[in-house]
Amino acid sequence: MRTAVLGGGIAGLTAAYRLAKRGVDVTLFEATDKLGGLGGWFDYDGHRLDKWYHVLLDSDDHLLGLLGELNLRERIDWSETTMGFIVGNKHYPFNTAVDLLKFGALNPIDRVRTGMAALYITKLLKNGKPLDEEPACKWLVRVFGRRVYEAIWEPLLIAKFGDMRDRIPAYWVWNTLNREKNGSQEVKGYVRGGNAVIVDRLVEEIEKAGGRIRLSTPVTSIASDADGATLDVADAPVRFDNVISTLPFSRMCKIADKALLEKIPQSSIDYQGVVNVMLMTRNRLSKHYWTAVVRSDLPFQGIVETTHVVRPDSIGNRHLLYLMNYCRPDSDLYKRGDALQVQDAIEGLGRLYPDFREDSVTDAYVFRAPYVEPVWPCGYLAQRPAPRVADTHVFLATTAQAYPMVTSWNTSIKLADDAVAAITTMDASQSSQHVVPADRAIDPTTTSGATAL
Ligand SMILES: Cc1cc2nc3c(=O)[nH]c(=O)nc-3n(C[C@H](O)[C@H](O)[C@H](O)COP(=O)(O)OP(=O)(O)OC[C@H]3O[C@@H](n4cnc5c(N)ncnc54)[C@H](O)[C@@H]3O)c2cc1C
Repeated sequence: MRTAVLGGGIAGLTAAYRLAKRGVDVTLFEATDKLGGLGGWFDYDGHRLDKWYHVLLDSDDHLLGLLGELNLRERIDWSETTMGFIVGNKHYPFNTAVDLLKFGALNPIDRVRTGMAALYITKLLKNGKPLDEEPACKWLVRVFGRRVYEAIWEPLLIAKFGDMRDRIPAYWVWNTLNREKNGSQEVKGYVRGGNAVIVDRLVEEIEKAGGRIRLSTPVTSIASDADGATLDVADAPVRFDNVISTLPFSRMCKIADKALLEKIPQSSIDYQGVVNVMLMTRNRLSKHYWTAVVRSDLPFQGIVETTHVVRPDSIGNRHLLYLMNYCRPDSDLYKRGDALQVQDAIEGLGRLYPDFREDSVTDAYVFRAPYVEPVWPCGYLAQRPAPRVADTHVFLATTAQAYPMVTSWNTSIKLADDAVAAITTMDASQSSQHVVPADRAIDPTTTSGATAL
């Protein structure tokens, strides 16, 4: 069986690894000259640094399982982390019940209501599935009250989904709130050396098991038929028995032929992109890993200081600040030039943090990604694509199937596992269809029977 895997992010690498370990003849095609996808990195002075901040959680079972198989669990550094809020340029820690009681952005009654609502969502409401049909904007008003919604939740939803925020189902918010904090203290992990180390190990294992990885090889079309699929690769058709696509869904829909496209449910889903300004500084900025910036006139929606988890002494004693802006890939913000993005970021930090000094910034980078966060519509459970495109040999492990889980390495690994399991199920059912019925059982003593087998 020849299987193609499209995309060299964590989903594609996991799928190729699993298949190669099972003895499948697998080839992975990656459009760019680097693996890692959204978990990619760049070289800085001998260090490999994440382009987009990445950490893992102690609840990331699929990722932790994979790291165990790759003998990388010993390399995880765990750190206790905290978050803060900046509301209208004022700073608040936001981690404990005491923080909430002192949270000056809300009046005392709303603080108590927020605490009770949070307890209800994380402790009492065990099943969020019925919220799939309900818009988060309505549900959050019901649970937290309008004032809290407008002060906190709406800006957070805008930060992630912009003007498409009203589409998001409450189920996604419920799931996100229940994802973090396996215990009561927030903990985040980082594999020493970053995602690059995980990718290196996967590549090693794939190649050791006979799999092939082809970089700088975009797949430009995919046509499926009763026996397999044909890909256009470097202007030539290549035939495979099975194909797993891990491409962002809209990319996949662009390269699928008409017949295949008709079989893919919900073949258009919007994506938010992201622009990250990454600043490397000599000094620590904040005591928080993540600071949400809401209701401010600042040119970013949040600040992630990953060097609360990544050890500064492992990256040349620098501190890493990521200032993020989720936005549509066709927006002016997304297209705004790098120099202006950096200038806005530095000016904004100067206004927020009196101790921040521009001359502590040693390097600045801007990274953009167009397809990051699928914008889920209400009722998506019924529309979410299955791992197998019905009646085809094409399988999907794309971020558009993550719902209601958040898009993350953990989720992509699960999606890759689901797609590989669907291939196995299909192969098993096809081989059982070929089992010779008992009444035509072959007499093992006759050679003609052996030939028939
Ligand atoms: C700012 C930011 C912060 C994040 N923080 C975290 C975090 O802290 N923890 C966490 O776990 N996750 C985090 N994530 C999410 C995580 O990075 C993604 O969910 C995950 O990497 C998606 O992996 P994937 O393999 O499914 O898709 P992708 O990484 O998107 O991989 C798809 C691959 O397909 C390739 N491709 C596209 N078109 C073609 C083609 N035609 N032919 C061949 N190849 C093609 C692309 O080049 C890409 O390499 C973050 C993401 C962002 C952007």
